[in-house]
Amino acid sequence: MKVSANFIPTLREVPADAVIVSHRLMFRAGMLRKLANGLFAYLPLGLRSFRKVENIIREEMDAIGSLEIKPTVVVPGEIWKESGRWETMGEGLLRVKNRLGADFVVSPTAEEAFTSLVRDELSSYRQLPLSLYQINTKYRDEIRPRYGVMRGREFVMKDAYSFHTDDESLDETYRKMGSAYRRIFKRCGLTVIPVKADSGAMGGSGSEEFMVESEVGDNTLLLCKACDYAANVEKAGCKPDYTVPASIEEAKAAATSVPAIEKIDTPHVKTIEELCGFLKTDAKKFIKTLIYKAVNVELDLNTAPGCSKLERKSPSPGAPAVYPAAFFAVAIRGDLDVNEVKLAALLKAGEVTLAADTDVERFTGAPVGFAGPVGLNSIPVIADETITALNDAVTGALEKDKHYQHAAYGRDFTPWLTADVRIVKAGDRCSVCGGELYEKKGNELGHIFKLGYKYTKSMNVSYLDEDGKSRTPTMGCYGIGLDRTLASVIEEHHDDAGIIWPLTIAPYHVIIVPIKYEGAVKTAADDLAAALERFGVEVLLDDRNERPGVKFNDADLLGIPYRVVVGDKNLSLPQPSVEVKWRSEKENRLVDVSKAAEELAGLVCAELEKLNS
Ligand SMILES: [Zn+2]
Repeated sequence: MKVSANFIPTLREVPADAVIVSHRLMFRAGMLRKLANGLFAYLPLGLRSFRKVENIIREEMDAIGSLEIKPTVVVPGEIWKESGRWETMGEGLLRVKNRLGADFVVSPTAEEAFTSLVRDELSSYRQLPLSLYQINTKYRDEIRPRYGVMRGREFVMKDAYSFHTDDESLDETYRKMGSAYRRIFKRCGLTVIPVKADSGAMGGSGSEEFMVESEVGDNTLLLCKACDYAANVEKAGCKPDYTVPASIEEAKAAATSVPAIEKIDTPHVKTIEELCGFLKTDAKKFIKTLIYKAVNVELDLNTAPGCSKLERKSPSPGAPAVYPAAFFAVAIRGDLDVNEVKLAALLKAGEVTLAADTDVERFTGAPVGFAGPVGLNSIPVIADETITALNDAVTGALEKDKHYQHAAYGRDFTPWLTADVRIVKAGDRCSVCGGELYEKKGNELGHIFKLGYKYTKSMNVSYLDEDGKSRTPTMGCYGIGLDRTLASVIEEHHDDAGIIWPLTIAPYHVIIVPIKYEGAVKTAADDLAAALERFGVEVLLDDRNERPGVKFNDADLLGIPYRVVVGDKNLSLPQPSVEVKWRSEKENRLVDVSKAAEELAGLVCAELEKLNS
C-alpha cells in the first residue's frame, strides 16, 4: 500500500482537548477523527489496528467454543422493561421511540437481548451449556465523555453470555473465559492487572476485572506489596486491626468492666477532631453515624426498625419487588469512611446517597452532627464490622450539643445488620497475607462475571431437565471494550516520537521509506514491497515527494514496527543494501537488498509467533 494512495492525515499539532497520550497519538497519526463529543471515526490506519484487536478476540472466543452471533444494536424497550433495567439504568441508557411511538433502546450492553433470544429457543437441558458472543457497537450516554476513545459515547464491545444447568458448568466456562482474556491481552502486548472481586467482603469468586494502570483511570485499585492480591477499591477488604467478638453475648461480657453509658454536654463541638480534642480521645474511639438514602432497595426490610409501613413494588412485571426509597443509619469507626458501593451491594440498592439535612433531622430528632446508634429506632442501623470491637466509645446522643461516652456495642445498642462497609485505603493490611496495601489508578478493559439467575429469573427463561422438570438456567457474562484496549496498547507502547506498535496490532508490519522515490531507488523500493507482500508481510510504502526528515518523523509517529530506508548511497555499495531499523531501537543495520525481503519476512513471522504463542 502506497502512502499517496492512502488517507493518513498526520498532524504536528495536538488537539487541545487531548490530554492523554493515546488520544494525542491517535489523532496525530491520522488514525482517528472526532465527529462530536464522545463520537469518533476511525480512519483507514486506525481501523486496520482496530480490526486486528477484533480478530484476536474473535480467535480466542472461537477457541473456547463461544459462538458468534450478530444481534441488532437497537433493541425493543420491552425486554429492558422485563428485566427492570428500563427503570434502573438511569440517563446513561439512550431510549428512542420509533414513528409508531414504540420504545427502543440503543444497546449499552446486551444481557436482555441475549437472554430474550435464548429464552425463545431453549427447551431442553441437552442444549446447555450455551455460550454466545457478539462484537458489536454499544452506546452509553456518558455525561462527560473524555480521553478520546478511552471513554467515548459510542464504542465497540465484545460481549459474551453463557447459559448453564448448574454452577459447576458455569464455573468451567468462567475459568475458560478468564484464560482466554489473559491470552487476548498478552497477544495485544498489554500488561493487565487481573482484579478479583472476592475480597472476602462480597463473598464468592463471582467476578474478575482486567485493569490497565492509568493516571486518568476511573478505578482505584488496591494492591498488596507482598503478594498478588489486587482489588478494586469498590470491593477491597482488609485485615482487621481489631478483634471481632464471636457473638453479641461475648461483646456484652467484654463490656462488663466498662462504666455505664453516660450523656455528656459537648457545646460548640462540631467535628470529630474537635470532639476528640474536647474529650482527649482519638477518632478510633468514636462511632461516626451517617444517614443514607437508598433507592430501589431489593433487600427485605420486613424486620427492619421503622420499615414496616414502607411501600414495596416491582418496577416492572417479572422484576423483583423493591422499596423505591428507604433510609438507613450507618455507624462506622470515627477514623474510617463508608464505601457506598459496598453499602449499595449490601442493600441490593440501585444507588445510595447521603440523606439531606432535613431527613437527618427528621430521623434523628437532632441537628446534623449528633446522630448515633444508641436509641435510634426510626430507621435501621447498619454497623460496620469495626463497631463490634468498640465497647467504650463516644457517639452522638440524638440531641443538640450532647454525646454519649462509654457506649458499648451489644450492651447499649444492637444494630440491625453488621457488615464490612468501610473504604480500604493505602496503608491498610492485605486480607490474604497481612502485607501493606498501596493504591494505583486503573482503567477496566474487560470484566467476567457470574450473573447467576438475575436475568433468567426476571425474564422467565426455563428448560426441561432430565426428569422433565422445568428449571431456570444460570448465566455468566463477559465483556471487553475494543476501543479502550486499542488505546491502552498505545498508552503502554510509545515514546516522544510516536507509537511503538506490537507487531500483532500494528496497522502494517513494515514501512519502506525511499529517500527519493525515483530511478533505481524507486525500482528497488517497489521490488522489495512486492517481494514482502508475496511473503504475506503487510507493507506501507512512503512514496511521497517529501524530505527524508519528514518521512522519518511520520514513520516514527505511525509506529510501524520495521522501517526500511532505501537510498542511492547504500544501493551503490559493492553489496547493494538497505537500512533496516526496529521502531523501538535507535540503531540501523545494513541488509543485502537481495536478501532483505526474506530476512524481514522471517523476523516478522518469528515475532508474530512469539506474541501469539
Ligand atoms: Zn498480600
